[in-house]
Amino acid sequence: MSETLPRLIVENGMSGEPGDREEAIAYFSMEIGINSEIPTYAGGLGVLAGDTMRAAADMGMPMIAVTLLYRNGYFRQHLDAKGNQTETPVNWKPEEVLTPIDKRVTVEIEGRTVHVRAWRYRIDGALGHFVNVLFLDTDLPENSDWDRTLTNDLYGGDRRYRLCQEALLGLGGVAMLHALGIDGRLIYHMNEGHSALLTLGLLELRVGEKGPTTCTPEDQEAVRNRCVFTTHTPVPTGHDKFDWNLVTRVLGPQRAETLKCMGVQRDSMLNMTYLALRFSRYVNGVALRHGEISAGMFPDYPIHSITNGACVGMWTAPPFAELFDEEIPEWLQDNQYLRYALGIPLERIQEAHQKAKNRLLEEVHRRTGIQLDPDALTLSFARRATEYKRADLLFADIERLKRIAKKAGPLQILYAGKAHPRDIGGKEMIKRVFRAAEELRGHIPVIYLEDYDIELAGYLVSGVDVWLNTPLKPHEASGTSGMKAAFNGVPSLSVLDGWWLEGHIEGITGWAIGDRDETSEPTQERADLYDTLQHKIMPLFYGHPLEFARIRRYCIAFNGSFFNTQRMLSQYWRSAYHQVIRSEHRGQQAQD
Ligand SMILES: *Cc1c(COP(=O)(O)O)cnc(C)c1O
Repeated sequence: MSETLPRLIVENGMSGEPGDREEAIAYFSMEIGINSEIPTYAGGLGVLAGDTMRAAADMGMPMIAVTLLYRNGYFRQHLDAKGNQTETPVNWKPEEVLTPIDKRVTVEIEGRTVHVRAWRYRIDGALGHFVNVLFLDTDLPENSDWDRTLTNDLYGGDRRYRLCQEALLGLGGVAMLHALGIDGRLIYHMNEGHSALLTLGLLELRVGEKGPTTCTPEDQEAVRNRCVFTTHTPVPTGHDKFDWNLVTRVLGPQRAETLKCMGVQRDSMLNMTYLALRFSRYVNGVALRHGEISAGMFPDYPIHSITNGACVGMWTAPPFAELFDEEIPEWLQDNQYLRYALGIPLERIQEAHQKAKNRLLEEVHRRTGIQLDPDALTLSFARRATEYKRADLLFADIERLKRIAKKAGPLQILYAGKAHPRDIGGKEMIKRVFRAAEELRGHIPVIYLEDYDIELAGYLVSGVDVWLNTPLKPHEASGTSGMKAAFNGVPSLSVLDGWWLEGHIEGITGWAIGDRDETSEPTQERADLYDTLQHKIMPLFYGHPLEFARIRRYCIAFNGSFFNTQRMLSQYWRSAYHQVIRSEHRGQQAQD
């Protein structure tokens, strides 16, 4: 990216306010996970957004992010002895963590004028650059009681609440960037379809008083030239849709009419994915397989792939960070140097891992009072508790699992993950894990840790011996926790879906469950899971610890050096953002 980026890199302004510098890319996301002090994320989508912004800060990429504030956070999870989940709001005070911005904007919702303010959070990068994240907030005395609650809950409320939120994010976000005076030169990146209404906001800005129903093909093309869309959903039912009556009521008849003219109405619904596709110059899925699947779902649109990454600086635990500082000092500023982990002595890798493992086990003890065995093979399954992730696949045959622990050596397992408050299937799955833990008592310790968040993930991805992942194919568009584990030399034992199709080299970076087909074969997956654990992983772990350390080293060198947000963001730069800028230079001829 060196030839093209300098034009856009600018010195940080004195005040650090957005607009003080030349932001070039506005990144819109319904959720952003920056750290556990700012609980405005639910899972992978938000953590990816946070990691993306961190990489932008590290690389001096001139980005600004827009999201909503969520005063209630994404709930605290409580689990009783049987695994029944209950939820309470997170007690956090935005004013203690975020800086208010004095600009105000308004958005017309359901015929009312909703006032919107913003808060900002500054993320500092490794080399002195920084980026801002804007959190939109409607809790203002000028607003009605209902409107004041619109930015309280992430993925809460009914369809009406959700559409109001998406209107705030898309239309409010565009209005806020305009008010800050930085919209003229921006590229708009939609991280998933939730923010697709920003395209309507851009259209309205462009046509002004005339009203959006008058917009010409040139106006539409001008908006399309500025937009980039990343889809994250590999199954048709997962795409965000709203009933047309609701659309008319929330957005108003004129906007509904405009959307209709744009041809984004399908089956009397507004489908946010189609809206984003229609108005984006560049569209991508989040892993190679996911890009192919998306292209199959939306054959009328060219869909590319840029595989996700995770932020190396964020997810490398202190023992490995110290080791890399000594052995490959450039690793943080340029993650590609992780390739040279190949030269680190195996004993040092082994030692760093043991430290990270002890650190995790201390944390488990602090949280639960349970002391796990630092020498026992430790697996973890930590992710959102929702059915397709199949947290309980490991327990399909409890007796077999007991026999494995008896024959091949001790085994202990750590679980974590929240179910969405209304996800009955996800909640049932947590209870099944608790039942299995009960049945395995005395044979294999299984602990379900409450309140999975960025902080707990940091301990788990670095401290366990093997990272387990058993999604139902093709639901795992990418997955990122296995990448975080790789930075810490933790190999994956995973179904071949999402990123693992690209990161997996059997017996080198980890192990596969099942084959490379697009659909899952549960019987084969279960058999593979147990066979691989018993005959490959455990004999290596207990019998050949240095060979196991070699696998750890390959994870860092092959997967850490690639599945990171620095590489991901340079790909966005070269393939998505830069393409948009180029097309702008070509001007009117750029129209297809
Ligand atoms: C990384 C991360 C996720 C996403 O992990 P997947 O592998 O995509 O399931 C979810 N939640 C938290 C807290 C994370 O850190």
